[in-house]
Amino acid sequence: MWYQKKIMNVVMVALVVITIVVPYERSAFAASPVVTDVRVSQRASKTRVVFEFTRDLDFKVFILANPHRVVVDMPEVGWQLPARPLPSRVGVFETLRYGLYKPGSSRVVVDLRKPAVVKKAFLMKPAGVHKYRLVIDLAGASKSAFLRQIKLPPIEITPAGKVGFDAPKAPTQKFARVTAPKPSQVSGPEVLSRSSIVNSVAKAALRLKPQKTRKKKKEAEFIDKDIEKLTLIFRPAPRKPLKKSQNVIKTIIIDAGHGGADPGTIGRSGIYEKHITLAMARELAKKLKEAGRFKVVMTRNRDIFIPLRKRVQIARDAGASLFISLHADAVKNRKIRGPSVYTLSERASDKEAAALAEKENKSDLIAGMDLSHESQEVANILIDLAQRESMNQSALFATQLVTDLKRRTKLLRNTHRFAGFAVLKAPDIPSVLIEMGFLSNRTDERLLQTAKYREKFSGGIVAAVRSYFSNVEQAQNQ
Ligand SMILES: [Zn+2]
Repeated sequence: MWYQKKIMNVVMVALVVITIVVPYERSAFAASPVVTDVRVSQRASKTRVVFEFTRDLDFKVFILANPHRVVVDMPEVGWQLPARPLPSRVGVFETLRYGLYKPGSSRVVVDLRKPAVVKKAFLMKPAGVHKYRLVIDLAGASKSAFLRQIKLPPIEITPAGKVGFDAPKAPTQKFARVTAPKPSQVSGPEVLSRSSIVNSVAKAALRLKPQKTRKKKKEAEFIDKDIEKLTLIFRPAPRKPLKKSQNVIKTIIIDAGHGGADPGTIGRSGIYEKHITLAMARELAKKLKEAGRFKVVMTRNRDIFIPLRKRVQIARDAGASLFISLHADAVKNRKIRGPSVYTLSERASDKEAAALAEKENKSDLIAGMDLSHESQEVANILIDLAQRESMNQSALFATQLVTDLKRRTKLLRNTHRFAGFAVLKAPDIPSVLIEMGFLSNRTDERLLQTAKYREKFSGGIVAAVRSYFSNVEQAQNQ
């Protein structure tokens, strides 16, 4: 009988699949713990946040200001939450984000509605239907109590089940506080060496370094208003010898915006910007590689958080000739749609561009990075000088992009705009940021999720990359 044969075939295939796949899958799953639930409840003045896990793990819990956040770090975990919306607006709890923070390490960021302190954080063993639980009790606190707790090292919670932290009596806190690099690491010797003008300005800038007392205030201002002026850590970018022949392999950086604990903008249907950008980045990488004369480096090729300055550093380490950052926006007016192209400028071309840069530059904050130790003034002056040249090149490439994208899709008005995007601040690499469309617009959101549109759109970028480099080569040969 034909159907018996067919059933036998299916069974055979299934058996083969089970024998091959299951042992691998089983070991893979056994190795990775999974978060199975997140619950938030309010009792009296206490907001309790509970995470349920398939295994017991090590945790680190700490708070950050501007905006007020609780950060929970843990080994890399998978997420299989129940099919219901994430909790929001319970007691001091506003919302939460989660994702891969770096390889081997996951992060949850809890946004607070007002200053709050961690009263207790502890692990509970499985009981009844519940698996391992991490319990964090939060309570609203005065600004000063909040700032006092910020100064403490992270709370460490170990699987031994001991209470890692009980607010009044500060316990053993072994871990060093996770901090951004010290200002001393954020100097720019190789930028200094670029020219004597830069050098002298840099020396003056170094003298401007704020004193300790002024520093706190400055930093607060920085985080509130000037977040776009993120600093870079300068290391010498490998210099490739200039060749004037036609077929020099150029390295192109493709930067998929956001990732991990930073989802980016959230679309009408709930789609995350970080997924849209990665899908386009992969398509673009494929196309550029097919074009033959480009080496492609992706700042990320999975759902992971990469700090903005790290993205720039990847480009410099690769000796890149072009940096393309991919994003998608969302605005209140749901009718607005279409892609636009941005290049760096300290002065934004218009209000919307400035607001957009501010939003995009919050990536590090959203993923729970502590930026309170940044010293941006020095680096800003240096970047400004060193960047003039690559800014011109960026503008040329942006113009080419607008031309080539226009042939394929309807663009936003004033398509090429300027603003202070942190991710465009490689001083020596022409860089553009493409907002591929608006996830707040139904058409854009749908288009960006189709392979066909991604193909068309990335085709436009590849065409622009090719024309840009042939123009550069022509100019060099003249
Ligand atoms: Zn974005």
